[in-house]
Amino acid sequence: MSRISKILLFLAFSLFLSGMKISEPLWGFFGHKKINRMAVFTLPPEMLGFYKKNIDYITEHSIDPDKRRYNTDYEAIRHYIDLDVHGELPFDHLSRELSEAIAYNSQIFLVNERSDSTLILDTKKHNSAKTNYMESAKCKIQKEQFLAWNKEVIRYDQREEYSYEFELGSLPEWLSVKSRSAKGKIVVVDKFSEYGIAPYYIESMFSKLKYAFSELDGKRILQLSSEIGHYVSDIHVPLHTTQNYNGADTDQLGIHAFWETRLPELYADSQYDFMVGKAEFVSDQREYIWVTLLESHRQLEDVFAIEKELSQSYPTDQQYCYEERNNRTVRLECEEYARAYHEKMNGMVEQRMRKSIHGVGSIWFSAWVLAGQPDLSELIQDINYGEAERKLAKEAQYKPSEIKGRKHTN
Ligand SMILES: [Zn+2]
Repeated sequence: MSRISKILLFLAFSLFLSGMKISEPLWGFFGHKKINRMAVFTLPPEMLGFYKKNIDYITEHSIDPDKRRYNTDYEAIRHYIDLDVHGELPFDHLSRELSEAIAYNSQIFLVNERSDSTLILDTKKHNSAKTNYMESAKCKIQKEQFLAWNKEVIRYDQREEYSYEFELGSLPEWLSVKSRSAKGKIVVVDKFSEYGIAPYYIESMFSKLKYAFSELDGKRILQLSSEIGHYVSDIHVPLHTTQNYNGADTDQLGIHAFWETRLPELYADSQYDFMVGKAEFVSDQREYIWVTLLESHRQLEDVFAIEKELSQSYPTDQQYCYEERNNRTVRLECEEYARAYHEKMNGMVEQRMRKSIHGVGSIWFSAWVLAGQPDLSELIQDINYGEAERKLAKEAQYKPSEIKGRKHTN
């Protein structure tokens, strides 16, 4: 194949991939931007000035985490957690500490010189509360030390390691292999993270935001506020808490974008009330995150059952319509059909969006309070923007009276 045709093929493939990205399920760029923007208005006067001044940054950068998920492997798992993989409500046996959750969802393999691997211990199956070790016929792990080791190796940022190797001759003290004749290496594989780490990641971001406030690092405060806003919103979406996130297991493919993109785009601006009151101090962030997550998970039953009932009773040829978007023809749920689903859910999408807005504002507020309520007023002048941000900031400086033409509705 010629070099040119290789390049063309590559380009075609890239376009194909970028086409896929658009239909990938997300709260929707629309929803995330809206939530971050409205969250600003929940803030107390001491924070409001700074956030309002930078409201366009906060709005636009709400979708950075979604953009990033196509470029790196470590990003996607931060947006969800497949709770149903980990048991049943209220998931008491699922550790709220990431390193511990991983330690109890790991597999230990023996890999011989020909690269054949044998599973010698699955911590999920061998975790008994009564002993201080986990043991199979071929392997034994000291629990306490294994937990400590996990705590040390688990990194939240740009994590690309999901397995760790040890030569048989130099095993860590917490791990012993029973066969003396075994050769090769031992590989410890994290079987937890692939099912999502959203609640844990939000906690780690919260600490960073708190730190940014205490350092009065304006740029960092804005970046972290924008992004934590994204993740907090994500855990408000029921479909971000299940393995059946896009209805594939129940023959409801596409339900994700239907719920979190199509419906808000149709109804948020015209029907939803986004006045959600003042941000509140969240004293226990972990508690808040998990209560929110379990609330989302409880709503799954309705999300699926109502759509199922509707799709079976509604005329099939009136469920999907074709619309032109960005010069592409896209298949979407027809407006009438969407309205029927929306009405049957009785305000669920609006409620989750309202809770997201209030939650995002409350998380920002709490990080600021815990950082000692630093004075943000001097930051207003001092942000060193990059070129794109500078342009946004300039646009944000226009007073309403200077806007020409019709005022838009949002
Ligand atoms: Zn997301």
